[in-house]
Amino acid sequence: MAENSDCIFCKIACGDIPAEKILEDDVCLAFLDIGPLAEGHVLLIPKGHYETVDQMPADAAGAMLRHIPALVKAVRAATGCQGANVLQNNGRVAHQVVQHVHFHVIPRNSGDAFHFNWPAGSYPKGRMSELAEAIRKNLP
Ligand code: AMP
Ligand code: ZN
Repeated sequence: MAENSDCIFCKIACGDIPAEKILEDDVCLAFLDIGPLAEGHVLLIPKGHYETVDQMPADAAGAMLRHIPALVKAVRAATGCQGANVLQNNGRVAHQVVQHVHFHVIPRNSGDAFHFNWPAGSYPKGRMSELAEAIRKNLP
């Protein structure tokens, strides 16, 4: 039974909805994205329902993410792509449409249609240290 009956990825994880599976173990599943940014675009999901990655226990995240190197290697070999992005969106503002953690493995080739708008900023003096300290303080 799906852990969250309103969640499409929970339904895929328990087999209620079909998917073109790439790999599966006790904790996670990888399958082809149905709306690929490029052929061979894969999604890696935990079987448990977590909306965003910060809600995942570290061991569950680790058990899933250990598959990333092999997945990227297999996608590159199968598609012949020149590179790959591993992306993960958290929250609607960050373009998360499906509210169940998923990592995208996206094959990339020069001149393809996928573009980042990456407006790199800069810090005023002192702000980097201040912010790094604030983040460090919030680590477990
Ligand atoms: P995101 O914007 O990070 O939430 O991406 C969600 C991704 O899930 C999109 O790339 C969709 O194409 C993909 N997706 C949604 N439904 C399915 C499905 N039933 N099978 C495979 N991929 C899906
Ligand atoms: Zn779910």
